[in-house]
Formats: sequence, C-alpha cells, structure tokens
Amino acid sequence: MNGTTAAAVREGDELVITPRTPLPRGKAFTVKVTYTADPTGIRHRDDAIEDYGWIPTPDGTVLYPQPDGAKMIFPSNDHPSRRAPVTFHVTTPAGLTAVANGRLTDRAELPGGRVKWTYDSEQPVATQLVQLAIGRFTSVESTGPHGLPIRDVVPDDLVAPTAPYRALTAEHLAWLEDRLGPYPFDRYGLLVGDTDLGVALETQTLSLVPKADLLGDRVSAERNQVHELAHQWTGDSVGISTWSDLWLSEGHARFYERLYSEEHGGAGFEEAMRTAYASHDQWRHDYGAPAEPTEPNLFKRMRYDGSALVLYALREKVGDATFRKIERAWVSTYRGRSARTRDYVDLASKTAGQDLGGFLHPWLYGAKTPAMPNHPDWTVDPVQG
Ligand SMILES: [Zn+2]
Repeated sequence: MNGTTAAAVREGDELVITPRTPLPRGKAFTVKVTYTADPTGIRHRDDAIEDYGWIPTPDGTVLYPQPDGAKMIFPSNDHPSRRAPVTFHVTTPAGLTAVANGRLTDRAELPGGRVKWTYDSEQPVATQLVQLAIGRFTSVESTGPHGLPIRDVVPDDLVAPTAPYRALTAEHLAWLEDRLGPYPFDRYGLLVGDTDLGVALETQTLSLVPKADLLGDRVSAERNQVHELAHQWTGDSVGISTWSDLWLSEGHARFYERLYSEEHGGAGFEEAMRTAYASHDQWRHDYGAPAEPTEPNLFKRMRYDGSALVLYALREKVGDATFRKIERAWVSTYRGRSARTRDYVDLASKTAGQDLGGFLHPWLYGAKTPAMPNHPDWTVDPVQG
C-alpha cells in the first residue's frame, strides 16, 4: 500500500488490507495486489447463466464476468455500480494473441516468442463488463458510422464463416444511433467465442458472442448482435446501480432487439409482447416483478421479455414520439454513469410532462400485471402452481 507492504487477509469475498500507518483522511492511495488465478481450474455453474468467469476455449480463454465472476479473474470491487479505467498487461506464449476492452496501446516482443500486450479501456468499465481473451485470433478491422473503428476478434478458422453476419454491425450501429443517439464509446467489435456457451455478453466495446450465434440463421444472429450492441448504450454506458435495476439493462436490450428484428424479417414485436403479457403474472410468481429479482431468478425471462414489456407499456401510455424522447434523454443524461429504477421513472415523468410513477410502479413492483394501455383485449393467463 502506497509502496510499502501491508497486512492482508481474505474474509470470504472481501480482501481486508491493513496499512502499517493510518491513511490520511480524504487522500488518494494506491494498493497493489498480487493475485494468481488458474483459468483452467475455475468454472462456476449457475442454472440460469451457465458457466461464468473464465470460459475455456480450445487454445485459450474468453471472459464472462457477469454477474460476479470478475473476482475469479482479478481482485476488484465487483459491485455493478462501480467502474474504473483499466489498463491490461498480458503476456502470451508464442503464437497466441491477447485482446481486451478498448485500444491496443503497446505490443512488445519478448524472448522465446512471447508477447506482452497492453490495452487501455479508454472509458471506465464495470468489472462485470471486462473482457480479456487469449487465443489464435485474427483481428478484422472495418469502419462504422462517422468513421467509428470496428474491430472484430475472431478465431482464425471462424473468420470466413462468420463474415456475413459480422459485416452487418455498421448497419446495426446506424439503426441504433437513429433510436438512441450517438454510440457512446470510441470503438466496437465482436469477439467470436470458440465455445458452446449458450449466451453472449455485452463486454464493453467488445461483445462476446459464442460462435453458434453467428453460424445459424440470419434472424437469430441479428437479434443476438443487436441485443449486445444495444447494451453498449443501456447496461454499459448507462450502468446499473444495483442488480435490482437489471431490468433496465436487459429490458432495453430485448426491446431494441425485437424492434429491429421485426423490421428485418423476424417475429412481430406486438405479437411477442402480447405473448409476454399473457405470461406476466406467472413470471411475477416464479421470477419476481421486473424490478424485484432475487439472486436465483435474476437472469430469468422476467428480466428480458418481461421487462421489455414494461417499456412497451410505457410506449403505449405516452406514445411513440414521447417514448423516443425519454429514451434519448435516458442514454444522454446517464451516459457514463450508473442509474437506478427511480432515475428512469423520474426522467420519464419529467420528459413526458406527467407523473408516471403511479403508472410504472405496479408494472415494476406489483404482484399483478396491470392492464395494457390501448389493448383492452389482452389477457393474462392464470398462475399455475
Ligand atoms: Zn442482455
């Protein structure tokens, strides 16, 4: 600590460090932690999100830190509201490449063919959104709207088969910018994971997408791509303050994923929302109301279609023009910050010029699903079990 050795003990998830001399109040200090992790030996299983932390690949690793897997990788405060600029120094054996969030700032050749890679996250990043991948990769560079650098990182043998869908990123960026305003970071790209992991992750500026997502049909590939890209605005740039605010991140990503898909050959958005509405009481019963998850049901359907439905209800209530204003205000007001459910309700009310608390509260916290504005014929299925 501040250049001198300090006592340190682990207490469960916490690292408790006691400096030799008391720290001056209000002064910055530096802590250097030496930490060893074995990517091959650590896999955590959760019935909703499968493996997370280190995700082994045939020739290295990719990361899936969400929700609290970062601590398996590096010492960190992994509360979702916390973010910090990160510099990565990674030394790889000969023939392997390391990539991470942000920009490659240095590549130094070392004896024996090893390489030391340095990346700068450029913007502060929450630990759940950190990416660090090692493998035999090809970097595929292209350009998005306004010259935005796009860098896909792809296992060598997957470059050609994933190319047709990866080439759509620039269009996805343009479509989302039309909805949500300027892309919030300095670059973007897809990290194609050579893994059978069933879920992608919006790691900041470099979304992890399992290879199967880009090798199937176009409609589902684009849904996954737009979902992770939308998260760069909602979830990454606008972070969540607590895990109970996850509906804001996943609900928005699912909302734009479905809107985009409807316009590009996928299922009808309204029909999907009608289906979600029918299940909503059951999901409230099984998984908690949208803004009231518990740990075991955090990543269940209520946080996805169940939360997109809340945004759909709000759009029905205030109209599309006002809803678009709310969304723009949301991503610009909270850009680079963490926000909570109350912030969204307050900003929506302010932007719409009407108090929406009474409307949104039962949608977000109630035991029963409210009536859907403009759709008196929509019905909720009775709860089973
Ligand atoms: Zn998501």
